[in-house]
Amino acid sequence: MRPIYLDYAASTPADKAVLNAALPYYSNVFYNPASTHILGQKAEAAVRNAREKCAAAIGANAEEIYFTSGGTEAINWAMRSLPLGKRHVVVSALEHDAVISCARVLEKSGYEISYVRPNRMGTVTPEALNAVMRDDTALVCVMTVNNIVGGIQPIKALCETAHKFGALFFTDAVQAVNSLDLDVRKSGVDMLAVSGHKFYAPKGVGFLYVKRGVALDAFIVGGGQERGMRAGTVDVPAVVAMGEAAERAVALRESYLEHSKAVADAFLKTLRFCEPIICADKTDDISCIMFRNNKQYVNGGRLAVALSLAGVCCSVGSACSAGSATPPRTLIEMDVPHPESAVRFSFGRPTSVTAAKNAARIVNATVERLTK
Ligand code: PLP
Repeated sequence: MRPIYLDYAASTPADKAVLNAALPYYSNVFYNPASTHILGQKAEAAVRNAREKCAAAIGANAEEIYFTSGGTEAINWAMRSLPLGKRHVVVSALEHDAVISCARVLEKSGYEISYVRPNRMGTVTPEALNAVMRDDTALVCVMTVNNIVGGIQPIKALCETAHKFGALFFTDAVQAVNSLDLDVRKSGVDMLAVSGHKFYAPKGVGFLYVKRGVALDAFIVGGGQERGMRAGTVDVPAVVAMGEAAERAVALRESYLEHSKAVADAFLKTLRFCEPIICADKTDDISCIMFRNNKQYVNGGRLAVALSLAGVCCSVGSACSAGSATPPRTLIEMDVPHPESAVRFSFGRPTSVTAAKNAARIVNATVERLTK
């Protein structure tokens, strides 16, 4: 039997339409978009079109979009290219390792870092942010959707708080593209990072939005690509794929929301022994759940391994931290009572309600077996 994949927060498959859009740029239109001849300009037109599509998906202008190799690079760029000056940075304690690791690098180079904790419902409140803000805060980083529990943060209000203190606001929106309207003019964010492989584009491509007027240093120097800010020949097929995927994510959003709600409801209703982690506001495509039978909590790592053998692929944390013996930081920061018991299930466009119910039955049987 083919395993049931419930780990779409780790990666989504590249969409067929997305691949078809990209394919010609590997062969017939393989040219270097920086070449000034007529053939190079064909590739350049495709890059321009892709940039416009990515910009449109978040309500930005094309010249505010910088292509990167994915979410991690976009995050590194946003956080590690600050102009010298203010020396304080605020990071939410819920962030992905990419953000936390950048904060540690900033700390080594002399920045002071404040970590702002979420409440028990997984929300970083504007009040909590306000309490750690300073006049010398350069940057505030709070993710849009948490990758472990799916919690949605009040980005607009947090951004307003940061701006009140003259700080820039950056959001890691890697897990948000499928479910949320990311209009940067409405939220007011200064920088936003996304990653193609979380919204049905291939791996190895993403983008950073930088609001016009925000001064960032170049991230990779060399040629003049990405307006001299990120040198290196642009991966034309990858950005074409991402442009198509971004456009589709917006067009399919309503049906995605309906679908992920139906799948999550079916999954949760079929599950037994389960204690889902509750957030004040969350997306339906991620469910983080603790399991208990006869007063005995099941270890999440043990359960995920047993489920993989039984035909359900899920995870205990982000794929980037797989193998870590400690539970995800998000759960610890939320004061979840048994974080070591939590398992993350995440659903995608291809997940059917039937597959979700079948997976839940396998989970039930596995939990029962492990707690006998
Ligand atoms: N931020 C979040 C919230 C993520 O979930 C991930 C990937 O799991 C990343 C950043 C890193 O993105 P990428 O895999 O494109 O480097």
